[in-house]
Amino acid sequence: MPEIDLAALDTPAYVYDLAEVRRSHELLRRALPRPSGLYYSLKANPHPALLGCLRDRGCRAEVSSPGELRAALDAGFPAAEVLYTGPAKRDEDVRRAVALGVREFSADSPRSLDQLDGIAGEHGVRLRYLLRVNANEPVPGVGLAMTGVPSQFGADVDWVAGRPRAFTGRANLDLVGLHLYMATNMTDEDHLVEQFTIAIGVAARLRDRLGTSFRTLDLGGGFGAPYAHAGELPRFPTLAARVAALLDRDFPGWRGGAPEVVFESGRYLTSTCGRLVTRALEVKWSHGKRIVVFESGINHLGGMSGLRRVPVISPDLVDPNRPGVTGAAAGEDGALAVGPLCTPLDSWTRSAAVPDFRPGEVAVVPNVGAYGLSASLALFLGHPMPAEVVVDGGRVLESTRLAVRRERLAAALPQPFAMAGDLS
Ligand SMILES: *Cc1c(COP(=O)(O)O)cnc(C)c1O
Repeated sequence: MPEIDLAALDTPAYVYDLAEVRRSHELLRRALPRPSGLYYSLKANPHPALLGCLRDRGCRAEVSSPGELRAALDAGFPAAEVLYTGPAKRDEDVRRAVALGVREFSADSPRSLDQLDGIAGEHGVRLRYLLRVNANEPVPGVGLAMTGVPSQFGADVDWVAGRPRAFTGRANLDLVGLHLYMATNMTDEDHLVEQFTIAIGVAARLRDRLGTSFRTLDLGGGFGAPYAHAGELPRFPTLAARVAALLDRDFPGWRGGAPEVVFESGRYLTSTCGRLVTRALEVKWSHGKRIVVFESGINHLGGMSGLRRVPVISPDLVDPNRPGVTGAAAGEDGALAVGPLCTPLDSWTRSAAVPDFRPGEVAVVPNVGAYGLSASLALFLGHPMPAEVVVDGGRVLESTRLAVRRERLAAALPQPFAMAGDLS
């Protein structure tokens, strides 16, 4: 397939390839048991072109804020199929979502059920909820545990099992099932299977305690993908059959859609579609170390975790024809590659081999289609946002730039009151 000329782009720029989104979606579909539904988690990347592509392929939208809901609806996801999640929700945000037609929420406390119930009553509608639960056991081998530990995500299984009435019986709500998102970024198929084993076990136990047959079983996801490193999407060749066997045992009706089994993914669907193209602006020496300053730093990428241990400036991604570009300069103990922000935290790497960049040359950071710009410190220091260029294979479809603007609020502000001893 013809490639677009990255060095000719106005930088900094994210480049998203829809052909790769379709390929990732196909790979994940093949890894999941059938029949099943798939939600795209907008937090990975809410770019409209990616949303449109995933919507066309049958994904539903999983959102957890007014902004994500807006993005999903603007991209044509039907409100009636949106799943609205999150560990706590403001009344006005839930009201607005219901007014826009959202009917399904993930909830995880008696208070959050009362909130949904009250708002459903105000609107004269019935709302459905998935009860998000926090299993007792952490998923083995997983760093960022969201389950089996104290967590804002989900009600502990024992809380639900011990007080089932606190989690059911609201006049305007229908409990449709469970939501068990337990971990993220798992690349090992066995870890995924263990996670789904725990999830299905919890669901079987709570079905009996809650005295209901679930319509929906949201087993979560956590499908891993490379981030800011070169690499391929992991494959899960035996996952579908192994999860199907687990479901056959505890939920034999699932093949007929009772319950409907659904999964969620952000990063697997969009990570490999995106690259960040950014230029070296400055090269100099300090205390014996080569310093390379790029036009992008934690304002454009890696804001969630910082970039500091991410050796993203990969020698094979710059022009290989130029002498001196294949690795660190001779005898160099690694260079300091940094972004343009006025904080020492804004560094790509302090010790990795950094190609011998000259000012003006581009670096290409692979696999940053998920948790790229939207997960970064874009407002810090006020540099321009990178462009976002959408391509399909070798064809450029559109190029946009996000803008943030300040809005004047209509509500009257409380005036400062005079303090005792005020000199004015
Ligand atoms: C973050 C999140 C996801 C997406 O996670 P990925 O690792 O990007 O797949 C899905 N579901 C929930 C509830 C999440 O919080």
